[in-house]
Amino acid sequence: MRMVLLNPGPVNVSRRVKEAIAGPDICHREEEFSKLLQRVRGKLLHAFAPKGFTVVVLSGSGTASLEAAVIASVEEGRKLLIIENGVYGERIAKIAAVHALPAVGLQYDWTRPPDLAEVEAALKGEPDIQTVALVHHETTTGLLNPVRAIGQLAKAYGKAFLVDSISGLGGEELDLKGDGIDLLVGTANKCLQGLPGVSFVLVRGEEMERIRKIPPRSLYLDLGETWEHQEKGSTPFTPAIPAFYALDEALDELLEEGVAQRIARYRRASAILREGFERLGLAFFLPPRLRSNTITALHLPRAMSYQALHDRLKARGFVIYAGQGHLEAQIFRVANMGALSDEDLFGFLAALEEALRRP
Ligand SMILES: *Cc1c(COP(=O)(O)O)cnc(C)c1O
Repeated sequence: MRMVLLNPGPVNVSRRVKEAIAGPDICHREEEFSKLLQRVRGKLLHAFAPKGFTVVVLSGSGTASLEAAVIASVEEGRKLLIIENGVYGERIAKIAAVHALPAVGLQYDWTRPPDLAEVEAALKGEPDIQTVALVHHETTTGLLNPVRAIGQLAKAYGKAFLVDSISGLGGEELDLKGDGIDLLVGTANKCLQGLPGVSFVLVRGEEMERIRKIPPRSLYLDLGETWEHQEKGSTPFTPAIPAFYALDEALDELLEEGVAQRIARYRRASAILREGFERLGLAFFLPPRLRSNTITALHLPRAMSYQALHDRLKARGFVIYAGQGHLEAQIFRVANMGALSDEDLFGFLAALEEALRRP
């Protein structure tokens, strides 16, 4: 039975993408890989980046690229400003802590966007801050953060701006230039509809020059060194070749569909689901103005545990996602990323209606 994945990645992919992983056996030191790598990098830049950006593709899930970007972005003696309103903002803070990078954390309730006046006060009060880090789409709750407003503040104070758009890119509008983004982290297996195993960082050209001067904090997750190799068509270590094949194909699909159309498709899918949730009397965790195109967080109905709901839906072929952190017992999440048909969406709503009925 095909499972319909309504978790925020890995997502259902097309048959085309699945078949792509069975490409020829190749050596990563040969020109076949070099061409594959440059195709993938070229398509990522073409799909998402304005002129003057470059890209580094890493083998590993989204967190690999996030960690590589975070640890590359601050000089010795300087600080990160980390905006946290969910598990993924907290993850950036954990990365900083593991590497003993000085950081100022601004923590907000998971239902609230950051307070811009407080962000500005921190930038004003802590001249040591060098990089501002923000999660574009907080997967924890489906909350969209104000990337443009934070980017403008970062630029006004001469700071680098690092954005985790691992669950946003391809699902939400994003203007790297207009938003003042220097480092943008993305992954293959969420809204890009590739398979897990590769992730990437889009980097503004001048930002890459800055990063190259900072001594590496990791051998394996060295963004600058990896970039130098990739500019010459190679990688320092063995890459996840099948995941590259899948991403190459997934990017063709994305470019054929169009990024704006992909975003519109997700927006429509979320609207279909939300209409259904309302009809079923479920309560939304976030107000409409904060909701993304791709995740809906809902309160668990009274008298039903997540596990019971999950199991009933899974028996019908649908995988939903639990709440994280302190929301574990309160909410469940339904994502609509991936190669999902209308039949999948309406089928899910029918299964949910059944699952919510008392046994
Ligand atoms: C999925 C996700 C990540 C990374 O998760 P991985 O399991 O390492 O791919 C990081 N940030 C956000 C916002 C995410 O949604």
